[in-house]
Amino acid sequence: MAAHADQLTGGVRIEQLTRRFGAKTVLDRIDLDIAPGEFVALLGRSGSGKSTLLRALAGLDHEVAGSGELRIPGRVSVVFQDSRLLPWRRVLDNVILGLRAPDARQRGVEALAEVGLAGRERAWPNQLSGGEQQRVALARSLVGDPELLLADEPFGALDALTRIRMHDLLRALCKRHQPAVLLVTHDVDEAVQLADRIVVLDGGHISLDLRPGLPESRSPRDPGFQEARELLLKAL
Ligand code: ADP
Ligand code: MG
Repeated sequence: MAAHADQLTGGVRIEQLTRRFGAKTVLDRIDLDIAPGEFVALLGRSGSGKSTLLRALAGLDHEVAGSGELRIPGRVSVVFQDSRLLPWRRVLDNVILGLRAPDARQRGVEALAEVGLAGRERAWPNQLSGGEQQRVALARSLVGDPELLLADEPFGALDALTRIRMHDLLRALCKRHQPAVLLVTHDVDEAVQLADRIVVLDGGHISLDLRPGLPESRSPRDPGFQEARELLLKAL
């Protein structure tokens, strides 16, 4: 029964979403549903409106002109390209900032352990590498047990090797916590590696909605991997 209740509350429904900047219509009557626990990558060229869509879901676009209906769950967290940690707060305090729970500290310690940062609770953000700071941002985004995780190019500023490690980490975290995910990226490989479903935004519309059906392993050697990759490269 609990699973059924989650299905009623945990997903996303976007209906006829339009967003304009001046005379330019960036999102033109977008319809998109995300099921509870579904991992969706939102792919598109620079300027295609990915961040505009994510900001609408995050409720960060009150000044933007537009229309449409959004249904989002109650617990939503957002991760950006820069970790946005408060430099004057220690790592653990950043993680549990705004978390109102009697066991907040304990949950923060556990979240940090989950992202591989056990023992760094009392460090200051500027004592961490960029990759470690994004790990803290991931811990902060998951500590409140979100039903929806919104991520806007969260690994865009990291080097290639760190990015690969972060992909593995994010996959493992999402498998465990099962939030619905909307991951904005312009990186085809990142989308195929991480998502169950890939939506391409182009000219204000969704031009492709792909469920590659790849095995858990997500090896680039899977035949379906290259097939999905090529389809997406053609659509971009
Ligand atoms: P993406 O994230 O896909 O690169 P964005 O959603 O950031 O694209 O932007 C889509 C379009 O909307 C771009 O042409 C961008 O210049 C424009 N845009 C985004 N935000 C603003 C804003 N605050 N004011 C004016 N134009 C904007
Ligand atoms: Mg963007």
